Amino acid sequence: MITARTLQKTIARLLEYSGIALHTGKEVKMRCLPAEANTGVIFRRVDLEGQPEIKAEPGNVVSTRRCTSIGLKEDPAATVHTIEHIMAALWASDIDNIIIELDNPETPVADGSALPYIELIQQTGVRELAEERQVIKVDEALWVRKGDMYLTILPYDGFKISYTLVYDHPVIGTQFFEYEKGVNEFVTEIAPARTFGFEREVELLHKRGLALGGSLDNAVLIGDDRTVNPVRFSDEFVRHKILDLAGDMFLNGFIAGHLIAVRSGHFLHVELASKIHDKYKQNISIGGESSVVY
Ligand SMILES: [Zn+2]
Repeated sequence: MITARTLQKTIARLLEYSGIALHTGKEVKMRCLPAEANTGVIFRRVDLEGQPEIKAEPGNVVSTRRCTSIGLKEDPAATVHTIEHIMAALWASDIDNIIIELDNPETPVADGSALPYIELIQQTGVRELAEERQVIKVDEALWVRKGDMYLTILPYDGFKISYTLVYDHPVIGTQFFEYEKGVNEFVTEIAPARTFGFEREVELLHKRGLALGGSLDNAVLIGDDRTVNPVRFSDEFVRHKILDLAGDMFLNGFIAGHLIAVRSGHFLHVELASKIHDKYKQNISIGGESSVVY
């Protein structure tokens, strides 16, 4: 396969944004800085001594409970929670390299989707760098499974996600959506889909110190037989799961393949991302396999 050579990209200039964090409920200041080629996505905790930096990659994931959290294993305080929606926005905006400064352990939730971040990047602009992008082209099936949850990636000359969401709840039930880059518009079909939660779980989550910043402004709240606030799509839930999966897969940067997910979640996403990393990313640094294309 001949792949058009693509140059790496970063944001054109400084981008600043403030907002509430979904789980901690705290106001977070975020500053995004342009970064050099081959930097990747770096989160920097400017509120901590030494301003530790955490690279968004599978080996730095420290938790997948309710969200994807990265951190430094040697410094438990140096953690950043809920990176997946920003990661999806970076992927959709074609950004390889960026430094994201935060003064809190969690990113701002915005409206619970990736759209506000994509719009901010569009306003800020994107700049090409001199180095070529390395895209991982998966050349054999890889899969992970936990109970009745499955996630597979197959070789594919493009990027496609086929997602089946199955929830034993009358408002969600079974939803299927297929997203393919170049066929579907991520910005209009996937990015606006918001995170969701159940009315009956709110109290329990709050007791655990989770979803403290959750509100009808940043999540779809699901009651016993209807949603409390209006949905943006009748199948918004499965679209949001595709957003989460695209964001988590960006832990390895840009990849080519067909992802097939059934009832998947952050845990399986990161398991598969780790497998992909182990198989292909090592090769980049030692200049090996031809499965890494440019
Ligand atoms: Zn999400």
